[in-house]
Amino acid sequence: MQKHTGLPQAFADLGVEVRFLKAIGKMNFVDPSDIQLQMIPRGLEGRDILGQAQTGTGKTAAFGLPILQQIDPAGRLQALCLAPTRELAVQVTGELKRIAEFANLRIVAVYGGQKVATQLHLLGHKPHFVVGTPGRVMDFMRRGVLQIARVRFVVLDEVDRMLDIGFRDDIREILSQATGEHQTIFVSATIDDEIKRLAQRFAHNPVDIDVSQDRLTVADVDQSYVTVDAWDKFRLLKLLLKQEDPPVAIVFCNTKAGARKLAKRLHGAGVNAKEIHGDLVQQKREHVMDRFRKHQIKVLVATDLAARGIDVNSISHIINYDIPPDSEVYVHRIGRTARMGAEGVAITLVTSEQGKELTNIEKLINLEIVERTIDGFKPSTPREELQEAQAPPPLSRFETPVFSNGEAAPAKLPRRTLGSRFRPARGRRRL
Ligand code: ADP
Ligand code: MG
Repeated sequence: MQKHTGLPQAFADLGVEVRFLKAIGKMNFVDPSDIQLQMIPRGLEGRDILGQAQTGTGKTAAFGLPILQQIDPAGRLQALCLAPTRELAVQVTGELKRIAEFANLRIVAVYGGQKVATQLHLLGHKPHFVVGTPGRVMDFMRRGVLQIARVRFVVLDEVDRMLDIGFRDDIREILSQATGEHQTIFVSATIDDEIKRLAQRFAHNPVDIDVSQDRLTVADVDQSYVTVDAWDKFRLLKLLLKQEDPPVAIVFCNTKAGARKLAKRLHGAGVNAKEIHGDLVQQKREHVMDRFRKHQIKVLVATDLAARGIDVNSISHIINYDIPPDSEVYVHRIGRTARMGAEGVAITLVTSEQGKELTNIEKLINLEIVERTIDGFKPSTPREELQEAQAPPPLSRFETPVFSNGEAAPAKLPRRTLGSRFRPARGRRRL
């Protein structure tokens, strides 16, 4: 919906001013996402907000637009946003700066790891908006170079991750020092009781906006499933990773033990894979995530809990090695891919006993997931797989394969494969 003005009219309808419409038009925003539709007008009204939406749904602009628009360019520091990591602080600052391109506002990021002197220098430029990690923000507050008592806007971005990382005390301390009248916005991919308590304590009658079941992002993902016997899953996954060659993929397992074992097997097969699950200490998890973010790890083997709040840009593939027992978990998993405007691929391995789970997912997302076949993949019988696992001596090319009972193995019917991009017509599936 774009009028001849070239400005994104749907955002104008929400109350966004021309100086910002110009900028987001340049960023190719046309229609607001669901979280933006709900948060922008509320934010402009001055309401406190507790907003929940999946990763990649445009939460930065959802809080950024209403706040930037309310900042007085003639005034001093007016807004503070806390973010869990250095990367996120930088990312959010970049996005806010693009949004404010025509608004003449100064936005600065402060985070650990960079020279204090450099950031002190930036703070000297009298920013209107500071985005920072809680640790560094506290540090600057203690030094007396960052006074937040009179800020008018406080944002907690990715609250769930900040709590995971253990910024609890810093957050409370910072929030309680913002003593002037201000608007508070929390955004998070997941919201639990602890976050609700935090909001109750530090926000005033916040509007609760939850679009985490939003179908939008799910519909943008190229979703398919592959029918496979349990004993063939690993072989199929290997082939799939080889053929798809995803630059950045997450493979989901339902259990910690499963994730550990799978990561080990993949590693053994020469795949650049690492596991992330609740048994790893926080520091180790952060380390793995950090390397994954830098694309030093290609395949992350994860359990659902550990994958909470993964914010890596450009995750191309989500592979459900185990179909999630709960349909909502499926939506959370595949929400990691297909950031706005980008296409993601989600492939689910399904055994013949799991047709019901698959149907439940389809009912929830209100979409049919198509079956696909993997080029060159030949299902084995469990017995063959067992033999393979026991590593029999390789057959010479001229030997006829035999089963251990001495019978010649029956020739397999060739399975028709139609290329990985083939999309069968909708209809009854064989499972
Ligand atoms: P989240 O914080 O929810 O994970 P981000 O705010 O980081 O998501 O946004 C993800 C990407 O989507 C960014 O590149 C952003 O510029 C883009 N984006 C946000 N809103 C829109 C929109 N309405 N139309 C198109 N792209 C958008
Ligand atoms: Mg975000």
